[in-house]
Amino acid sequence: MKIGIFGGTFDPVHRGHLQLAQNARAQFSLDKVIFVPAYQSPHKQELLSCTSPEDRYEMVRLAIEGEFSMEVSDCELKRKGVSYTFDTLSEFEKKYSGATFFLILGRDAFEGIDAWYRADELKKRIRFLVAKRGACEVHVPEGARAEWIQMPLCPISASGIREAIKCERNVDDHVSSKVLQYIYAHALYREN
Ligand code: ATP
Repeated sequence: MKIGIFGGTFDPVHRGHLQLAQNARAQFSLDKVIFVPAYQSPHKQELLSCTSPEDRYEMVRLAIEGEFSMEVSDCELKRKGVSYTFDTLSEFEKKYSGATFFLILGRDAFEGIDAWYRADELKKRIRFLVAKRGACEVHVPEGARAEWIQMPLCPISASGIREAIKCERNVDDHVSSKVLQYIYAHALYREN
């Protein structure tokens, strides 16, 4: 079985994330893609005071409802503390023994992997499926096995969406309608 792990803060999950997951699944014939919302990202600790892990998890669940071969995992929420991909991979390796794992991520995240917890072991145990973000060339960290997800550049970012909602600008094209309803119903991102 080929499994794509797609980690992130998903604050909120947006169409760029969906596109990334769908293209990775189709291009690399993955049996499933598992979205893994971080309880607390090691890279974005300051953000997590504004949206709870439960809200971010729920938005991912709504965004992928009905999507072919996509799931959301609460393993990082249950583990609590800082969420490390290495620990998540170890959990999935136990749960799906014999599977091959791929980590789905954007260029910005990929270029930082040498700073991740147990990066050298991670690079040996997983293959990276990387989407370009912006026009620059991708720098491949030494020892990482990487392949490129072919998809049009998608300029959407969660930070852009948070900012737009705060300024009462329209984000209908960037977020699914179910997620948007959730954001408004829970008054998310209205203030800093
Ligand atoms: P923020 O704007 O708050 O930094 P984000 O939009 O990058 O958030 P994350 O949840 O941090 O969202 O991203 C999860 C993963 O998805 C990361 O690997 C990131 O590089 C990738 N990603 C997010 N948006 C895009 C996009 N538009 N194109 C390609 N990759 C993306």
